[in-house]
Amino acid sequence: MSEAPESANALEQWSGGDEPAMMSHLMGHDVRKMFRTHDLRCTRQREEVYAALAATKTHPTADELHSQLADRGCCMSLATVYNTLEALCKGDMCRKLTPSTGPARFDADTSDHVHILVDDGRILDAPHEVSACLTAGLPKALAQQLEQQLGLSIGDVAVNLHAAIK
Ligand SMILES: [Zn+2]
Repeated sequence: MSEAPESANALEQWSGGDEPAMMSHLMGHDVRKMFRTHDLRCTRQREEVYAALAATKTHPTADELHSQLADRGCCMSLATVYNTLEALCKGDMCRKLTPSTGPARFDADTSDHVHILVDDGRILDAPHEVSACLTAGLPKALAQQLEQQLGLSIGDVAVNLHAAIK
């Protein structure tokens, strides 16, 4: 059984090829296991929305995901897709990205990684080694100094790169 190749794009080239078979081929039981791990009730709708989101690296909007699901014959309203995405985000199974312009986008990859916001609206994942370098960029001493000054505890470091098409 051969699968139709997904549209080739720069993202796939960047992702290297030997990443752990990414989530594009998540099986139903893998998805259900993810829900158990995240202590989130697994409904058919949640399962379908999550599987569709995990299968793409394009950081789709709720609207785009809704169209993709409709193409596959999953009938749910845009509001349901949106609410489901919100529930998945609350359960830490995906991230909501809010670009300065345009609608929110969603990412099933919850690992620390840097996003490149392109001026045409796309959001790309920076290559892993670049992400690792940039997110490690806050020296511990500086973080501690900040924490003391603010009386707060610093959590994740999030870095976004903004890029324009040349
Ligand atoms: Zn991402």
